[in-house]
Amino acid sequence: MKRSVRERKRDVAVKAALDLVRERADLSARRNADPVAFVHLQKTHEDREIVGLLAAVCAFGNVTTIRQKLGELLHLIGPSPARAADAPEALFERLAGFRHRLFRGEDLARLLVGARRVQQASGTLGKAFQDELARADRELAGEVPEACFREALARFCDRIRAEGGFSKSGIPDPSRRRGPAHLLSDVRAGSASKRLLLFLRWMVRPADGIDLGLWSVPTTRLLIPVDVHIHKLSRNLGLATRGDLSWKTCVEITKALARLDPDDPTRYDFSLCHMGMVQRCPSKADAARCEGCGVQSVCIHWSLPRVLAPRVGQPP
Ligand code: SF4
Repeated sequence: MKRSVRERKRDVAVKAALDLVRERADLSARRNADPVAFVHLQKTHEDREIVGLLAAVCAFGNVTTIRQKLGELLHLIGPSPARAADAPEALFERLAGFRHRLFRGEDLARLLVGARRVQQASGTLGKAFQDELARADRELAGEVPEACFREALARFCDRIRAEGGFSKSGIPDPSRRRGPAHLLSDVRAGSASKRLLLFLRWMVRPADGIDLGLWSVPTTRLLIPVDVHIHKLSRNLGLATRGDLSWKTCVEITKALARLDPDDPTRYDFSLCHMGMVQRCPSKADAARCEGCGVQSVCIHWSLPRVLAPRVGQPP
């Protein structure tokens, strides 16, 4: 649908505000405080891919705990996580006793072994994903691009699960632990799949101090990884109207961001994440808590005339 002059002016203002947030942020401080720092520390392409997946999969909950656990985990695994996954028995032994939230060491060992086998079979994990994307584009011709992307990601995860010996419902386990089932989310089920989309962003977006630009996949195919903070800020900026944390919401926000940068919509994930980290957003006009917010000038709670305000909570 054609956007009105006022709506286009608003897009320009939102873009300017988000660009300024990025410009003012200290990129290296942000990287060093983020799980992606562990990926940058790896020396080889194969280790960056494997550690990228591991770090993204473990990235939920408190960021300080995530970083501490990742440090512990990588110390146990040894200098080359990709090579360590070539010897599954030794890897299972090294990780025995490790715990992070839902995951046990053995769950993460399965993930590493599965990802490493896919990496070796295709040459790189990037090539494995590219092949799945090309296949999905071919087989689902006529579908919208995000549907092909979702199917490609689902098949990529299917391959890792099959090679690692776990499934979408986990592994046969009398204790009925949920850990293995949560290693890779089931994108076909419509979940937001934040950790997988974060992994893809790290691998695909051009190297900019945070993302690594390792894979030859167009940035226009990426979807923004959405968690509760990104969702809340997106609604406050009029980029989202959906009230649920789902794949459809990721698509909605990414399409809104594509109006700001059609070639690389997920570049704005950095600014939104940064706002989520530095601002305790109340999602209402609150002079004390909104003070210093870099997007206050375009926040719907402060700036948007009623006529343009999205009907938050209702489908688009
Ligand atoms: S101005 Fe306030 S309500 Fe709006 S996004 Fe910023 S912190 Fe949140």
